[in-house]
Amino acid sequence: MCAELSHVSLSACLGEVLFTQEQIADRVRELAALITADYQDTPFVVMSVLKGSVFFLTDITRHIDLPIEMEFVRISTYRGGTSPQLEPLFAEHLFSVEGRHVLVVEDILDTGATLQYAIQALLDKGAASVRTCVLLAKQGYETRIEARPDYIGFCIPNVFVVGYGLDYEERFRNLPFVAVLRQRNDGDNG
Ligand code: 5GP
Ligand code: MG
Repeated sequence: MCAELSHVSLSACLGEVLFTQEQIADRVRELAALITADYQDTPFVVMSVLKGSVFFLTDITRHIDLPIEMEFVRISTYRGGTSPQLEPLFAEHLFSVEGRHVLVVEDILDTGATLQYAIQALLDKGAASVRTCVLLAKQGYETRIEARPDYIGFCIPNVFVVGYGLDYEERFRNLPFVAVLRQRNDGDNG
């Protein structure tokens, strides 16, 4: 990954822009229209998984033409071992879920562990229904997760991306577009 982040310019760290601000805005409006149509007769709560989904959430909810409620949770994945370890905080601090229809909004689907965990926790707490909306889904996620997201913004190749909420070591979240983070070797090649 990009070395010595604090001393290099932003552009040196970024590779290809996968989705521009305009492309994201167009797709977000399309997803919001689908959600609006699907939930016409069903009051629901949008659950945002922080921090990565923050811009996606604020943009998409402002285009959902229904009286929604909003809740926020943190789910941390530690990737030190062979499989991600999920923080148990989530289930303990969960808002009142019983009998409610929940739409989970996530930034990106990679192994699917985070989403799977969220769905299970919500169902265990008695959610009436759980649907999921992800901005990005990484190629091959179908082989890594049983659950299928109900709404997907874009499918992307197996690359590490930043921007529009997505970070590398807490940086780049505020980029208005989604770009590939360059590997150190890429940078060496100019
Ligand atoms: P999963 O549980 O599906 O493997 O991973 C989901 C979480 O890992 C995401 O919510 C995000 O926090 C992080 N993640 C996975 N892939 C990427 C990526 O390409 N870029 C960034 N910034 N985060 C990612
Ligand atoms: Mg996330």
